[in-house]
Amino acid sequence: MSDLAIPALPVPTQPLEGSDQRFPVRRIYCIGRNYGKHVKEMGGDPKEQPPVFFMKPGDAAVADGGVIPYPPGTSNLHHEVELVVALKTGGKNVAPDKALDLVFGYAVGIDLTRRDLQNHAKDKGQPWDSGKGFDASAPLGPIRPAEKCGGFDGRITLSVNGETKQDGVLSDMIWGVPEIISAVSRLWTLQPGDLIFTGTPDGVGPLKPGDVVSGEIDGFGAIRFTVA
Ligand code: MN
Repeated sequence: MSDLAIPALPVPTQPLEGSDQRFPVRRIYCIGRNYGKHVKEMGGDPKEQPPVFFMKPGDAAVADGGVIPYPPGTSNLHHEVELVVALKTGGKNVAPDKALDLVFGYAVGIDLTRRDLQNHAKDKGQPWDSGKGFDASAPLGPIRPAEKCGGFDGRITLSVNGETKQDGVLSDMIWGVPEIISAVSRLWTLQPGDLIFTGTPDGVGPLKPGDVVSGEIDGFGAIRFTVA
């Protein structure tokens, strides 16, 4: 007899680019308000409002190439294309100049958002979980090992049905990748398998059933999926 009262739970995993191995996912940390123009399009002031952190459950990560369900409880599902960091080692109070030592690789991810629920939560001072942390809310392209990735100056784009909606550059991040890793590690103990979404450029907008979504970041790969 097992000492578990119900069957053991599966660990969510994501594909690696150019490999049959998979990357086990623990937690998904996300940063909001990390590109100045996106802060402004959401009605904020990047100087007044520093970036904020929120989380998605690890099993919200789903591999690309497939069909993503249109989630319940919303009539305003939004796309946010983001560079995603995948960690191979953990740490706490990590200095920015040591932060990239923790990185296994990177992927292109979409921070799917039930914008109506998020805006309601913002207005009421309530948590963002229902707007951000729902099932399949973190579609992810294949994880590319860090040594095969480009620099943090590439173009980051998203198109819906072939029409470009988001078009930015990674160098417009308010907090760079090392600073983000360091900041998260001062609030939580990072562990292998953790993912960090690093924020989205401006141009976020709604998705509807049947839409084909493609995200791409120069030097870091791509993601593509269809909304069911
Ligand atoms: Mn986001």
